[in-house]
Amino acid sequence: MNIDPELGKITLRQPDDWHLHLRDGELMKHVLPATASIFRRAIVMPNLNPPIASIQAANEYRKRILSSIPKGVSFTPLMTAYLTDNSSSAVLEKGYREGVFVAAKLYPANSTTNSEEGVSDLRNIDSVFETMERIGMPLLIHGEVTDTEIDIFDREAAFIERCLVPLLVSFPELKVVLEHITTEDAVQFVKQSSSKIAATITAHHLHINRNAMFNGGLRSDFYCLPVAKREHHRLALRKAATSGLPCFFLGTDSAPHERRMKESSCGCAGIFSAPFAIQSYAEVFDQEGALDRLESFSSEFGAIFYGMPLNQSSITLIKKPHLVPDVYPLKSESNFLVPFHAGETLNWTVSEQ
Ligand SMILES: [Zn+2]
Repeated sequence: MNIDPELGKITLRQPDDWHLHLRDGELMKHVLPATASIFRRAIVMPNLNPPIASIQAANEYRKRILSSIPKGVSFTPLMTAYLTDNSSSAVLEKGYREGVFVAAKLYPANSTTNSEEGVSDLRNIDSVFETMERIGMPLLIHGEVTDTEIDIFDREAAFIERCLVPLLVSFPELKVVLEHITTEDAVQFVKQSSSKIAATITAHHLHINRNAMFNGGLRSDFYCLPVAKREHHRLALRKAATSGLPCFFLGTDSAPHERRMKESSCGCAGIFSAPFAIQSYAEVFDQEGALDRLESFSSEFGAIFYGMPLNQSSITLIKKPHLVPDVYPLKSESNFLVPFHAGETLNWTVSEQ
């Protein structure tokens, strides 16, 4: 990593995105370049409809992604298996050993987009956890309880206490990534845990707290799951991300939903941050006086956790104000995405060279 404070220029190892939603079909083709032009690899989430739960489905989805990568761009999609109550240990082990599945994703049933077929009770798939622990296959967790009696702002903390702690008592060698953490509780938990436990942190949870959703009216663009929390949680996340601790690394959770799907009587959860993600993280690290720690967070700790080689390519960021457009167009004018930071000016730009 090379930081030139006078020129306002940083060259860093090419980053990876350890949590990404690409969806499928036309939408995937439209959003993929935003990620592939910056990130070298990405963990692709399997919550499609139907979910990516078999080796064949993952292989086919990977092929569709690979055929949509713009020419001249090097990008590797890392596929994940969607866990259901009926997941087979044998299929997961085969998929992992063949290099099709890099990890498996646990969605508690009905916790977020396309999670209806997720796991209804963790005890239903004990044999799967046992296999994953034995073969070292990472378990990626959407860590929220789905009990509607638990306040939505408390669901992550409740998950840690009720589900994650008992899971790790039963499977102490299981490699776990607690995805898109949003609370001080999660930060503390991951910090205190063994090196087998890590967490991804999104750019948006570093920038917004829960007030963003209600600023002057109902702002669906800032609605995501897990939902943004109080300010003290956001501050704890910023501290964790910029701490230099290897258990925290980059995962955007960028999730494209057309504006019309977000602005409805039951709007979709998700923030589309891919086009300006690395710039958004750079802003946070700059504000925290931790630019020298950006590279390890964005481009090293994740690869080390997953046991993958570090990227040898690099990207350059320049301190130059850049206005984020209001919309990210799709095929027709009536269909569009609203990128995170829409209408805001970010201070860091990715150099084209
Ligand atoms: Zn996600």
